[in-house]
Amino acid sequence: MKGNDMKKVVKFGGSSLASAEQFKKVGNIIRADESRVYVVPSAPGKRNSADTKVTDMLLHAYETASKGEDITGEMAAIKARYDEIITGLGLDFSLDRDFEEITEKLTAEPLMDYAASRGEFLNGKIMAAYLGITFIDAAEVIFFNAEGNLNDYKTYKTLGQRLKENERAVIPGFYGMGKDGNVKTFSRGGSDVTGSIVAKACRADVYENWTDVSGFLVADPRIVPNPKAIKYITYRELRELSYMGASVLHEDAIFPVRHCGIPINIRNTNAPEDNGTWIVESTCQKQDYVVTGIAGKKDFCTIFISKAMMNSEIGFGRKVLQAFEENNISFEHMPSGIDTMTIVVHADEFIHKEQSVVSAIHRLAEPDSVEIESGLALVAVVGRGMKSASGTAGKLFTALAKEGINIRMIDQGSSELNIIIGVDNKDFETAIKAIYNTFIG
Ligand code: ASP
Repeated sequence: MKGNDMKKVVKFGGSSLASAEQFKKVGNIIRADESRVYVVPSAPGKRNSADTKVTDMLLHAYETASKGEDITGEMAAIKARYDEIITGLGLDFSLDRDFEEITEKLTAEPLMDYAASRGEFLNGKIMAAYLGITFIDAAEVIFFNAEGNLNDYKTYKTLGQRLKENERAVIPGFYGMGKDGNVKTFSRGGSDVTGSIVAKACRADVYENWTDVSGFLVADPRIVPNPKAIKYITYRELRELSYMGASVLHEDAIFPVRHCGIPINIRNTNAPEDNGTWIVESTCQKQDYVVTGIAGKKDFCTIFISKAMMNSEIGFGRKVLQAFEENNISFEHMPSGIDTMTIVVHADEFIHKEQSVVSAIHRLAEPDSVEIESGLALVAVVGRGMKSASGTAGKLFTALAKEGINIRMIDQGSSELNIIIGVDNKDFETAIKAIYNTFIG
């Protein structure tokens, strides 16, 4: 395919659009590549660490309006954020009428999703004026069903048609139209999802997601100083890492593009020359390291169950899991031995129900003993290369042993994509550093 036939959807996060200065960087990025045809903006984010995101300001105004109090002052502060951007860009454009309408609506009938969505709506209008391209209100093209999920059929039909009619456009992120005729938002950070939906609707070649880091990092920078960025990661690896707490992209953002073969490229608005991270279905790209990423979470509990001859008792596992189901607790892992089985759960879901779960296990499965422990941290070592590399587990355990870390649990995912190890909460950071140093250096 020739370069100029390519179609890219570009989504910009809040920090990329927090000020006129940031908007100018975004403008340069879009103008640098004519295949960047559809733009999905977030609301203005923080300009510095002490700042407040416009979405949060809007949510606060909604709360004030819900109490029947006056929101004029709060709306003026929000408007000042946008006016600063408009003036800084030298645009002959005004949001005065929009602000009047939003203030009136919020005062007459405060609706939370409507309030939250206005951050993207207004930023989209500025972006369209700045780029001189069409503005498409997401409420006209993205639809939710009565359960609050995306109405795929209606969305892709309507959005697909509108994109066909407009070679270039701005579609604000984060919201669409609910089944009840009111604006509805995705969960926080949901502009990532909009970008993915737009990419699928126009069958984009690439979905570029511009943020303020140069891609996914191998490990959490709060634990490992200056970790390397991941060049290529598969959707499945990403899912494992996000599940274990790594976050750059909204979890749901991979679903629309994943089955269409559209790669996501995470890029840095403040360092556009960096290649960022490519999130792909599959890749033959040679990996620099066997391990793609390391992530983890603290505060899990283990429920250790033993029963003589457990291995030959049909239905034992089901009965144990039923005890968790009855208590509405989802389990994370379930390593098992011949006559033993361990269930790993999140402490915050489990602790207040622990005795109820233990008695349900006794009632349903009649084990010999049940022991519970807390303070477990889980570390996931994820890498598509692990299944064909020998010695990975050996290296991993040696690294932990050298640091004197006691391994409380090991679970090699059935996908051979990850190894999960359980350590004491107090050893969590040391374990991650040791693994990083061993595999990435
Ligand atoms: N502005 C929304 C938020 O702060 C959505 C987004 O940025 O993706 O969560």
